[in-house]
Amino acid sequence: MPERNASHMLFENAFLFDGTGNKPFTGSFCIRDTMLVAVEPGTSLRGKPECAGAERVDLEGYSVLPGLIDCHVHLTSPWDTSAHEPYWKLVTPPSMKALTTAANANLCLRSGFTTVRNCGGTSWNLPEDVFARDAIRAGMLVGPRILACAGGITMTGGHGDRAYPPFMIAHPELGCGVVPADGPDACLRAVRERIKYGADFIKIYTTGGVSTPGDGPHSEDFTPEELRAIMTEAHLHGKRVATHAQGLAGIRKAVEAEVDTVEHGSFLDEETAALMAEKGTALVTTLRVFTAILERGSGYPNPEALHKARMVAEGQQRALWLAHAAGVTVAFGTDASQSIRNGNNAVELASLVTLGFSPEEVLLMATRNAAAALGLGDRLGTLQPGKRADFLIVRGNPLGNIDLLREPGNIRAVFLDGGAKVLRDAAGEEYQSQGFASGTVAELLKG
Ligand SMILES: [Zn+2]
Repeated sequence: MPERNASHMLFENAFLFDGTGNKPFTGSFCIRDTMLVAVEPGTSLRGKPECAGAERVDLEGYSVLPGLIDCHVHLTSPWDTSAHEPYWKLVTPPSMKALTTAANANLCLRSGFTTVRNCGGTSWNLPEDVFARDAIRAGMLVGPRILACAGGITMTGGHGDRAYPPFMIAHPELGCGVVPADGPDACLRAVRERIKYGADFIKIYTTGGVSTPGDGPHSEDFTPEELRAIMTEAHLHGKRVATHAQGLAGIRKAVEAEVDTVEHGSFLDEETAALMAEKGTALVTTLRVFTAILERGSGYPNPEALHKARMVAEGQQRALWLAHAAGVTVAFGTDASQSIRNGNNAVELASLVTLGFSPEEVLLMATRNAAAALGLGDRLGTLQPGKRADFLIVRGNPLGNIDLLREPGNIRAVFLDGGAKVLRDAAGEEYQSQGFASGTVAELLKG
């Protein structure tokens, strides 16, 4: 198939969920190069000068939504290695880790996630997430837009640190997923190193968690002085900070120190939710990952994690509703790779609907809210003129049945930056490219 960007196209008769919070409508939209140039109800775009000469595609029977955004994935680890990750890291050469990262990223794109934020687990001195991001950007590989952290920063003995044996921590070239830092100076240096290695944002850990042996969801990591050093330095360089935080004290301390996103947030209380709303701190959901661990019960390879997952699973459901009620920006995340396979990210959409959120609310979490949480609300997350042309063409209406998005065969096209990267024909045959020609897009969507 020819490979070039579908640079100027006018899509008509689509059922549009535009991610702005407005009611969905039947309408048209036009893309030119990498951007959306017009979006309107009806077919009025035909006469518009910016749409003149565009290839027209009829989307009768299709829904269109902004490209989905997952604010919390782990691309470097292969599927389900939470208990064995240090071993895998130790025996796997860096080149294979980079390929695994790129392959997982590709799975996300093919399932409709056009932007993913890699929240750690990447080797901190050979950051695979940075390499995969750059290879995709350079057009060497087909994949989503990746936001890389170039490895997480934790305190000695903090979340992630105890997952690796001491000799690995002492030899970072072996591929630890976190860098330990103690004291404001070391924290500042760790932030600068992440930026030097190509980080788009900084990932830290202000409480223990589920998967690391020996720590707990309520432990409190980093001092206020260390957190201040991290936030000040990151923000000085225009980098947002995401913190893994389960227990209340660790959430609160990070929010007070101006963290940008709280990941998990399981033991959030009303007062801290109100503070998050006031400061504009987003909460990133990772609801499904913990119930997925629980469902596997004694079959899960890490019994300690099973016990801790029980502690946080229920808390997280409550935290989500608290945050929602307080007006906090709730953004979509999955923790994919640990119990949720990369590419199966949409399972979280279904879990949120099961919890009682409407499909509209859930899709807003994975589009507009997620873009805002990443600081990319001016470019991504909605179908509006002037935004990047990231969108999905879906057979049927996911607002009526969110599970449609769990079956990639229903996602007939994935556009990223105006390029049709993934196309599927009526028989479910899948094609990938750096950007299919507009004629190919029109032809494949006919069936
Ligand atoms: Zn995570």
